[in-house]
Amino acid sequence: MEFTQNRSYSTRLAVIGSGLAGFSASIFALDRGITPYQIGNTGPLAYTTGYFDLLGYLDGAALADPWAGIARLRAEAPEHPLARVSDADVRAAFSRFCAAVTEMGISYTLSGGENLRALLPAGLSKPTLSVPATMIAGVEALAAREPALVVDFVGLPGFSAREFAANFKSIWPTLEFARLGFPEMETGAEVYPEVMARALEVPAHREALAERIRGAVREAGEVAFVGLPAILGVHAPDRVHKEMERLVGLPIFEIPTMPPAVPGLRLRELFEQVLPERGLVLAPHRKVERLELRDGGAILHFTDNFGEVTVEAEAVILATGRFLSGGLAAERGGIRETLLDLPVEQPETRADWYREDYFDPRGHAINRAGLLVDDAFRVLGPDGGPVSSRLFAAGAVLARQDWVRQRCGAGIALATAFRAVEEAAALLEERVG
Ligand SMILES: Cc1cc2nc3c(=O)[nH]c(=O)nc-3n(C[C@H](O)[C@H](O)[C@H](O)COP(=O)(O)OP(=O)(O)OC[C@H]3O[C@@H](n4cnc5c(N)ncnc54)[C@H](O)[C@@H]3O)c2cc1C
Repeated sequence: MEFTQNRSYSTRLAVIGSGLAGFSASIFALDRGITPYQIGNTGPLAYTTGYFDLLGYLDGAALADPWAGIARLRAEAPEHPLARVSDADVRAAFSRFCAAVTEMGISYTLSGGENLRALLPAGLSKPTLSVPATMIAGVEALAAREPALVVDFVGLPGFSAREFAANFKSIWPTLEFARLGFPEMETGAEVYPEVMARALEVPAHREALAERIRGAVREAGEVAFVGLPAILGVHAPDRVHKEMERLVGLPIFEIPTMPPAVPGLRLRELFEQVLPERGLVLAPHRKVERLELRDGGAILHFTDNFGEVTVEAEAVILATGRFLSGGLAAERGGIRETLLDLPVEQPETRADWYREDYFDPRGHAINRAGLLVDDAFRVLGPDGGPVSSRLFAAGAVLARQDWVRQRCGAGIALATAFRAVEEAAALLEERVG
């Protein structure tokens, strides 16, 4: 039996995309009393380390002060999306977003002035602005070169405590490493961080693991911190983290693992669970198939398990990401925006997409392709004017930035979503008045 319904809804603001830009746009809109309708397909949020980068690198050099970096962008690359948002708005976006995530259930450090030096899986570190509370002790341990024991697990692919310690050896010689069997998952078969994280939500598993860690600490000698891959729970990491610290008797830090990683899954599940309780109308794991611009706004078309859905929106924020997420598609004839075939700023020919040397410090031109916007973050059309006064864009889909190389993924997503929501809210208020 086929069961289908045609359903039509209307909303003041539709958000397309469920990465950091889409979810932060919904959070900022809810703050302003606007209840958005958000439709977002699964995307790379689950790949993130959990760190919220503002701006970590410029011209290949690490930045201690991201604000000085943004000032340089304003002078040298004024069209970079971060350069187009005032420091006050960037600060407001980060502090509101980090506070909202903390209120919802995953504590984050409040974004301050300087970049933190945060740990990466292979024994490297990177500059970032805000980290989950479960990871901050790693920043402190690295900064003070404290004696620490890093633990990995039998059967866990992609994370080696030995490699981590070996790569840090020259700057952090007091790192020790150990390999343990994860309780009840120690046959040698592959184990996954998500499965371990969910297991640690059960007190008995925490107690069994803590006992093994205490044994490894005793063997290692002088240890002031314990480092674990990011496996301390999915839904209540702060509680699991505190409980493990109490049981082990030492400060513990999580180290992000290779994607898909638990810190990103935590964020995705948190947003999908808590934001609807705060009023967001969310269609998760759904793709907008068609978007029609109209005089009074736009109509979005998508399909769910019950059939077709249409959403009439007075304003739309496009936060669909780049190639991996499907917001842009790289085709034989060029790079295309997938929903409206909007003009994409891109190299003239495919031959110009990449430089010859993959590691060229200047990066590859394809990674700067994307949509152009005006100062109100409205998408620009072929004539250089806004395609519609009601179509805004935010996040990775924007042109003239290379978020991977510049380590500014969250920075661009949050700052531009904040501005797009501000402008959409002004437009909607105008329409009411
Ligand atoms: C491996 C990896 C590690 C990362 N690590 C970090 C990190 O340490 N720190 C940091 O700050 N950032 C990190 N990022 C970047 C960060 O996760 C964001 O991806 C990035 O900032 C862009 O966010 P966005 O929301 O603009 O786009 P995306 O995250 O790309 O999200 C776009 C979303 O839109 C959806 N979408 C596309 N088309 C449609 C459609 N038609 N209908 C509905 N939905 C659609 C996609 O499915 C996707 O969910 C990392 C990303 C990756 C891939």
